Amino acid sequence: MQRIFFNEVVTRDGFQIEPEFVPTDTKVELVNALSLCGYAKIEVTSFTSAKSIPMLRDAEEVMGRIQRVPGVEYTVLVPNVRGAERAMESKADEFNLVMSTSETHNLANLRMPRENSFAALKDVVAMAAGAVPINVSLSACFGCPMEGVVPQEEVIAWADRFATLGVRGLTICDTTGMAYPSQVSRLCEALQTRFPGLQLTLHFHNTRGMGLANVLAAARQGVDRFDGSLGGLGGCPYAPGASGNICSEDAIHMLEAEGYQTGMELAALLPIARQLPEIVGHQVPGQVAKAGRILDLHPEPSFLLDVRSKFA
Ligand code: ZN
Repeated sequence: MQRIFFNEVVTRDGFQIEPEFVPTDTKVELVNALSLCGYAKIEVTSFTSAKSIPMLRDAEEVMGRIQRVPGVEYTVLVPNVRGAERAMESKADEFNLVMSTSETHNLANLRMPRENSFAALKDVVAMAAGAVPINVSLSACFGCPMEGVVPQEEVIAWADRFATLGVRGLTICDTTGMAYPSQVSRLCEALQTRFPGLQLTLHFHNTRGMGLANVLAAARQGVDRFDGSLGGLGGCPYAPGASGNICSEDAIHMLEAEGYQTGMELAALLPIARQLPEIVGHQVPGQVAKAGRILDLHPEPSFLLDVRSKFA
């Protein structure tokens, strides 16, 4: 049975575009509850400037107050050396760095050319100097909403530059939901062949309804790490209302049904997912939290007594 390791990103990727500030107490309680559900990793917060992402301005406090569960890695997004210093003080287990494989997307998202991003991230890797493992999230690996197709060779070339720096892992992100299953299989196979020693994670968005199909395509290719966001929270800021990250509990539910071993406690996770609409003040896209698991049985309708008696 193939083991799958799941990373939860709801309190960072999920919350960061929510308009209403989620109180620090709520974030801490949420991370603490999620820590008991079997995740391999939780992306807790981001050490970006409070001005650029006001939602995550309490990064230090959240990191300081969560109860860390052994076996769970608490990772944080780190944009630059200043962020890395803060993350280091907060004793993050991993730094997650981000840049885009598409020049236009990088200019739009990070306000600088890719080469400048790479240089800044290289400084962060040097600063961490083996003391903290580094993961690099490469955005727009399956397509850019402004440039269109991002060639596979482009993704591999950037992956190669970070692998050369000695990073531990790479997250291949479908930032705007443009990936489709056969494309996912091809890229995963190419990356596994080229970088057998790297921890490879896939990060899908369900913007066009292909999120879970893409997860399955990657899992069948042997990929064993996935990001997901509780409730499917976290959309694209340029397309309000569009569904965002794949929903963790829906993906875990599917993988378990398919016979993968996720190590997750869905029975504990679903009640947490059901609290999300109250936390963010609106409905969330996740489906299993609403419909229940495949084998959560429903009571028979009362009229079945009559139907049965007719045929007795
Ligand atoms: Zn995302």
